Amino acid sequence: MPIYLDGHSTTPLAPEAMEAMAPWWHAQVGNPPSPHLSGMLASQAVENARSELASLIGSDPQELVFTSGATEANNIAIRGTALAALEGGVDRRDIVVSAIEHKSVLSSANSLRRAGFRVIEAPVNMHGVVDISELERLVGNETLLVSVMAVNNEVGSIQPLGDVVRIARSGGALVHVDAAQALGKVPFNCTDFDLVSLSSHKMYGPMGIGALFVSSAAHLRPLPVLFGGGQEAGIRPGTVPTPLVVGFGTAAKVSSAQLAADAAHSAGLSAVFLEELRSRQVQFIENIPAGQRVPGSLSLRFPGNDALSIIARAADRIAISEGSACTSGQITASHVLLAMGYTQNQAAETVRIYFSRYNGEADAADAAAALTEIVGR
Ligand code: PMP
Repeated sequence: MPIYLDGHSTTPLAPEAMEAMAPWWHAQVGNPPSPHLSGMLASQAVENARSELASLIGSDPQELVFTSGATEANNIAIRGTALAALEGGVDRRDIVVSAIEHKSVLSSANSLRRAGFRVIEAPVNMHGVVDISELERLVGNETLLVSVMAVNNEVGSIQPLGDVVRIARSGGALVHVDAAQALGKVPFNCTDFDLVSLSSHKMYGPMGIGALFVSSAAHLRPLPVLFGGGQEAGIRPGTVPTPLVVGFGTAAKVSSAQLAADAAHSAGLSAVFLEELRSRQVQFIENIPAGQRVPGSLSLRFPGNDALSIIARAADRIAISEGSACTSGQITASHVLLAMGYTQNQAAETVRIYFSRYNGEADAADAAAALTEIVGR
């Protein structure tokens, strides 16, 4: 198999999570609310996992709602909050987002235009960091919600959430943070926010499970966007998938224990990789300076080389990805890189790489050798 370096897309499942999930697929059958021992055991396992996740982000377990992933959490956070405003007589109609949010945030917000909401995009600087003075100008007493991600998924840039909270609070707005790319990569505490979206498969847990943190202190709680059996406090109905939740909880427990070690490991590997590229005289530009990106994450531009062609030619040796999104066969430049001020051509020269907990030094050296052969010196 090629060396996997695409951890912003998804991370390998932690063996601890795989082991913890195993019995819940067959031997330990049970739907959490069922009124028999099997149901009770499943329910206990779900609540243990909720506590593990809560302790990773500093929340109360009861403030966490399991969802199918961060996409769904973002939809509930944004559309559910707008619905709560409409039904609760709150007349604020501005939703302020950063220009580099994930599509599940941008599209959720834009879907509300029809219902009379105004979506305002705050610009970012050339290093993929939201412009705080612009945000200050855009947030006011019409703002219902400010949504800024903790870490960008395409370039790994870390956002100044302390300033975002200060600005949102001064305008009386709620704060939503998409923390899908922060968990398991950098320390993250939810205390200052109203809503936080989480994804398991970006932090060595299984795919298909995530969570929304809804602060007990929030002055407006999102309404559900799905209706059903009332699970997860009615905010996200549907059978809670015990095996996935157990895997997510275990991944959270492992992350709590080794976050600092993981970060040092990932940062070390990306440094080895860059050093190898430099020693081989490969021409490249780091889009995000060290210190402003999550450890292990690299957004690199190889001038004169098309990222998609690099990725295709490297495909049998390394799995890396590009800063462009391919929609219905049309290659369009990444909205993130364009928002950072890159031209279409510069955006098309950018690849993203992430060194995970499970990569080793040989991976960093071999990946650098493979890229050198492809892009030349
Ligand atoms: N937000 C961000 C920042 C992401 O990187 C992703 C996944 N690419 C999502 C949301 C969606 O997460 P999920 O796959 O759990 O739906």
